[in-house]
Amino acid sequence: METFTYTKATGVQQAIQAAGQSQTRFIAGGTTLLDLMKLNVERPSQLVDINRLPLDQVEKLPDGRLRIGATVRNSDLAHHPSVESDYSVLSQALLSGASAQLRNMATTGGNLLQRTRCMYFRNDAMACNKRTPGSGCSAIEGDNRTLAILGASKDCIATNPSDMNVALTALEATIHIQGAKGEREVPIGDFFLVPGNTPQRENVLEPGELITFVTLPAPKAGSKQIYLKLRDRASYEFALSSAAIVAVVSNGKLEFVRVALGGLGTKPWRSLEAERALHGKTRDGRVFRQAAEAALHGAQPQSENGFKVQLAKRCITHALTLATA
Ligand code: SF4
Repeated sequence: METFTYTKATGVQQAIQAAGQSQTRFIAGGTTLLDLMKLNVERPSQLVDINRLPLDQVEKLPDGRLRIGATVRNSDLAHHPSVESDYSVLSQALLSGASAQLRNMATTGGNLLQRTRCMYFRNDAMACNKRTPGSGCSAIEGDNRTLAILGASKDCIATNPSDMNVALTALEATIHIQGAKGEREVPIGDFFLVPGNTPQRENVLEPGELITFVTLPAPKAGSKQIYLKLRDRASYEFALSSAAIVAVVSNGKLEFVRVALGGLGTKPWRSLEAERALHGKTRDGRVFRQAAEAALHGAQPQSENGFKVQLAKRCITHALTLATA
C-alpha cells in the first residue's frame, strides 16, 4: 500500500474542496476501497473521510419520495420501516448481499460505486484494461464463468457486482451529486456506463464529485416486489443471475412492471425488452417465458458462462411468478 494523507470532512463543501486535488477518494465504510488499496489496485494520494457529513438519514419527502443519504449504512437502510413496507425489493436485495458485518459498514454511496469482482482486476500482475487502460483483458480468454453476458465489449466483460444497484434500477432511483460546479441529478439508468473502449470509466461522476443522496419515486400503490438471487452458495456470495421485479397486477393483467437484472450485465441491467413483453399482458407462465427470452435476446456468452443464458431466463420467469402470485 502506498502512503496517503487523510482528511476528516465536517461539511459537504469542505469535502468537495478537499477533493480538488487529483487522486483523492472519499471514504465512508471503506468495505471496497480499503481492500483495493491493500491490493495496490486503488492508489489514492488522499482520503477524505465523509462519515461526519449530515448524509446519514432516510427521510420521507413531502411529495412522497424517499430520500436516502449517501452514508446510510446498508443494514440501516434494509431495516428502515419505509423501505421494508414500500420498497421491499431494496430491502431484500441489500439483505442478500455480503455479510451482516459488511452491511453494518457499507454505505449507500459506496455500494453504488462498488467495483467488479473480476479476479484479474484485483491482481496487479495480470493484464486488465479497467485497472490499467490499454493493457488488455485477461478474462476474455481466461476464467470468465462469473462475468457478463450483457453489455460487454472486446475490452472488458466484467459484471457490476452490486445487488442494491439492481433494486435501485427497478425502482427508478435518482442519484444526487454535488461537485465544485454545483449540484446535479442523474437517473440511475444514466448513471452507470457500459465499458465500450473505456472500461476504466464506470459511471458519470467527474473527479471530485460526491454522491450526496439517492431518491426513490413515491411508492407505486399496490405493487408487489421481489428480488431473486441465484448464486453458487446461499450466503456471502455474488449473484450469477438475479432479478428485481416491481409489478402491479390489475384484473389479472400486468398494469405496471419494471425488470432489472444482476450478475449478468456490465452495469445493473434494466430490461426494457422484458417490460414491453409483459405490459398489459395476462399473468401466466407463457408470457413470463416470452419476457425472459426477450431479456436475453442480445446475450453474448463468453467461453465459460454460456450457462448463464438459461439460468437468467429461469431466474426472470420464477421472479415474475413470485412477484405476481
Ligand atoms: Fe479487467 Fe474487465 Fe478484463 Fe476483468 S473483464 S480483466 S475487469 S478488463
